[in-house]
Amino acid sequence: VQSTHPSPDPAAGAAVKAADRAHVFHSWSAQGLIDPLAIAGADGSYFWDYDGNRYLDFSCQLVNTNIGHQHPKVVAAIQEQAAKMCTIAPGFAVDARSEAARLVAERTPGDLDKIFFTNGGAEAVENAVRMARLHTGRSKVLSAYRSYHGATAAAINLTGDPRRWPSDTASAGVVHFWAPFLYRSPFHAENEAQECERALRHLEDTIAYEGPAGIAAIILETIPGTAGIMVPPPGYLAGVREICDRYGIVFILDEVMAGFGRTGHWFAADHFGVTPDLLTFAKGVNSGYVPLGGVAISAEIAATFDQRPYPGGLTYSGHPLACASAVATINAMAEEGIVENAAAIGENVIGPALKEIAERHPSVGEVRGLGVFWALDLVKNKETREPLVPYNASGAANQPMADFAAACKRGGLWPFVNMNRTHVVPPCTVTESEAKEGLAILDEALGAADAHTV
Ligand code: PMP
Repeated sequence: VQSTHPSPDPAAGAAVKAADRAHVFHSWSAQGLIDPLAIAGADGSYFWDYDGNRYLDFSCQLVNTNIGHQHPKVVAAIQEQAAKMCTIAPGFAVDARSEAARLVAERTPGDLDKIFFTNGGAEAVENAVRMARLHTGRSKVLSAYRSYHGATAAAINLTGDPRRWPSDTASAGVVHFWAPFLYRSPFHAENEAQECERALRHLEDTIAYEGPAGIAAIILETIPGTAGIMVPPPGYLAGVREICDRYGIVFILDEVMAGFGRTGHWFAADHFGVTPDLLTFAKGVNSGYVPLGGVAISAEIAATFDQRPYPGGLTYSGHPLACASAVATINAMAEEGIVENAAAIGENVIGPALKEIAERHPSVGEVRGLGVFWALDLVKNKETREPLVPYNASGAANQPMADFAAACKRGGLWPFVNMNRTHVVPPCTVTESEAKEGLAILDEALGAADAHTV
């Protein structure tokens, strides 16, 4: 992996940084308070800066590069497509788009056989919601607290984390409810069966009081990702499916983060045997080498738009470079057993190691996940389960998490950190020795979190 590691060039890095600071306006940031690291290159499970520091990527660039950085088959497919035809409007049938749709449809559960392509996850959510509203003729959409669905108009309103708050003035038609999460149970449940039963009853009550005849859709992340990798208890998603069927509500599963191998199956829904009416995807579909997302659509909803136009579209829908990279990614994942690797590494290496780490560190309250999709819930105190930092903490209040993240980076590990959690989300291609290398760095860095426990 170090073969393409260039010799350090701090001057080049400084120039990149200076132009960035002068002209790039960054996501989710106070522009004057950030200090972005200049990155020189990436390969496999690693990326590196201009100063000669290499990082093992346990963040996967926002849980995206499931196939790792610079997979040669995907890079070659993009180059070949670029040489052949870079772009064509969505109204034409072209080989890369047809084949990408076929490969995705072949893997999505049940009869989700029609694919509407977007440029990313938020647009997928926007279009899924629009399809559900037009299909049902209803307007309300129910989504969970502790969720993330994207940063565009409908998607940010559906999101259940504080990034939604500034947009709440435009949230007409959106209703939030509590999904199950036993470790911090909204229902004060004592076991998974109780949590599941109470969560389903709470959802039914919410529907009854909102008026079932006005509810178009329920959207859930199959396994909520950004909000903490909370694997739902057995029976919950099947229960939601049954409730949706009973009230004629469209069931949308958001697999933007959990899809395409992340959980050790092609889709997280495969773990639960549940088929939604609409499934949103992005990220892992082509590991983000070119922006791509989409909605997989059931036969029934697709039929709604068979003789009547679907009122939605994007200039870059099914972009040839994005679709060619999706074809190469999905084929490489199948040929190289990459989904199976994610499952095996999760079950045999990461899961057991994290559980052992949790026993030794006072700051690790709970470990949860599967495949290469794990979260450590960090706490001030294991008995009280008080989060290591308060909800939505910033600045000095967030110092314990900042100290932990800095310790990871000093050790050569790039972590994913959100609120009081760190997520262990390496590529699905991660090897056993890379996983062990990262876990050892994480283990040591947790000392910085332990120092803030009481
Ligand atoms: N849904 C989920 C579950 C996500 O995790 C994300 C991105 N983290 C999105 C939607 C939005 O995707 P994008 O950033 O590509 O718009």
